[in-house]
Amino acid sequence: MLSNNIFFDGRQIRWRKERWAERRKALQRVGRLSRVKKEAGRERRWVRYINHCISRRIVEIAKAESKAIALENLLGIRERTKGSKKFNRMMSGWNLRELASFIEYKAALQGVPVIYVDPKETSKTCPKCGNVSRYNRKKQGWFKCTKCGYQSDADRVGAINIAARALDALGA
Ligand SMILES: [Zn+2]
Repeated sequence: MLSNNIFFDGRQIRWRKERWAERRKALQRVGRLSRVKKEAGRERRWVRYINHCISRRIVEIAKAESKAIALENLLGIRERTKGSKKFNRMMSGWNLRELASFIEYKAALQGVPVIYVDPKETSKTCPKCGNVSRYNRKKQGWFKCTKCGYQSDADRVGAINIAARALDALGA
């Protein structure tokens, strides 16, 4: 999702999201619709808080390492994750637009450049030899190049490709 090889452990986020969904269902079953609305507000505020934490951390790391932040365009995040069930589940309903806007303003305050990158084919492109093929992604969550044999975690490969495109965009 984000480049510079920054990864976030989605397990905790997923766990909380599942708890919220369970509560919502239980309240709906007993017809407590006003409570459902109240809970939805609490969930939105929680997502907002997590987005603040994630964006602050990303900008801190980028600043410390004198790096730019590369973001996929928001539609691209959805598109790229078609093949990743795990990531999709974690980010479904997540307010990515809010996260991106938090990153933008925090980065601007710190003087860290933010670059938007076209994420097309980043999940299918080999970062070593440039081979683009959907067969590079035969196994769920894993990348293996059909040409040169390079292999790695699929999310990591996507992030490497995004970072490479960001460097291109910067003319570096
Ligand atoms: Zn390759």
